[in-house]
Amino acid sequence: MSSSKFQTLHGMVDILPGESEKWNWLESVIRETAREFHFSEIRTPVMEPTELIARGVGQLTDIVSKEMFGFSRGETNYVLRPEGTAPVARAYVQHRLDQRGGAQKLFYIGPMFRAERPQKGRQRQFHQFGAELMGTDSPLADVEVIRFMMRVYEKIGLANITLMLNSVGDPESRAAYKTALQAYFRPHLSKLSEVSQTRFEQNPMRILDSKEAEDQPYLADAPLITDYLNGHCREHFAQVKNLLTNEGISFTENPRLVRGLDYYTKTAFELVSPDVGSQDALGGGGRYDLLVEEIGGAPTPAVGFACGMERLMLACEALGIQIGGDAALDVYLVCRGTEAQRWAMHAMPAIRKTGQSCTMDFSGKSIKAQLKDANRQQTRFAVIVGEQELADQKFTFRDMHQSTEEALPFEEILSRLATA
Ligand code: AMP
Repeated sequence: MSSSKFQTLHGMVDILPGESEKWNWLESVIRETAREFHFSEIRTPVMEPTELIARGVGQLTDIVSKEMFGFSRGETNYVLRPEGTAPVARAYVQHRLDQRGGAQKLFYIGPMFRAERPQKGRQRQFHQFGAELMGTDSPLADVEVIRFMMRVYEKIGLANITLMLNSVGDPESRAAYKTALQAYFRPHLSKLSEVSQTRFEQNPMRILDSKEAEDQPYLADAPLITDYLNGHCREHFAQVKNLLTNEGISFTENPRLVRGLDYYTKTAFELVSPDVGSQDALGGGGRYDLLVEEIGGAPTPAVGFACGMERLMLACEALGIQIGGDAALDVYLVCRGTEAQRWAMHAMPAIRKTGQSCTMDFSGKSIKAQLKDANRQQTRFAVIVGEQELADQKFTFRDMHQSTEEALPFEEILSRLATA
């Protein structure tokens, strides 16, 4: 493997046969859940204007300041999207999706790009599924998107997950909190990491998200946002908690939860799993009532989530949850000679119409090699065709699992396959 001249880029992986079946299955669970919740899919380009992401996600976040894959061409600055919400908000404004009436319920599945240091559960190209409910500030919407997210994990059988919940307030609450944080960090400022020092003036909340060792001793006693929420945010938070409790969704309040993106207001949440190692966040989200306005749209309160698909797979692996991936073949046409191959080529569409997957050998292997190939693909039925079978118009229909076979006319084979 390592002898090949070209390799995937650092932190980027190929999804190979055997794995891709799992991905397809996972995507089908997400799509089916979206259908049940009546969210429509939105597909945005993988590249966006840098300015959109910088404004949306926040200039001082790790994502924008350190992790962007960007380049310029002519006058335009491009970035490979690091997340899905700012692009969806852009599309919402650009295409006036509000005019479709009512709150918009959107979901997406796709690759995201962040130039992070790769490790288990952390890649430079990774995949997220996410949903956005745009155009309402109701706490009901917060709970509905949380319920959508949890439902996907529930369907997959991942029960060992914790929903962490916080409110990060609105600009008024945050202004009061910012003053309190600055008062708290000021005496320690010279001992904080360089990056935290740069965040101190403009966005001290980001210091709370710091992973730098120097900062850790000062984080535990920092003031909590929940003590600075104004009446409106406090009321919203209380309603979200109340609704979650009523709906039987358990959560853990974590007043230290600040997310890595600046657009969140009020509700913020994260889904964590003890089964995926140090990168334990499976997903997260929250309310972002000011993002649409920030990027040039009309005021549009909204709430959403994004979940990492690689981490979901890792959690399944750790817990021994078998996901999807029935790659077994239904029918293999074993051919002796070119006439038989021609017949098989013509027979395959009829077999596929019965709903069974079907293939043949294209390279003229021996019968023995073809049967071996069929076994390797865990094939259920083999249809063996040679000169004699063609002359008799009866073909050997072998049940590979039972090791039984019969000589049958093709029509009979088709009717057996249709009910198999
Ligand atoms: P975020 O958009 O930062 O809120 O991330 C949402 C989720 O995406 C995280 O909880 C992870 O599951 C996943 N995620 C984020 N960054 C990465 C990454 N570099 N590699 C793999 N998964 C990631």
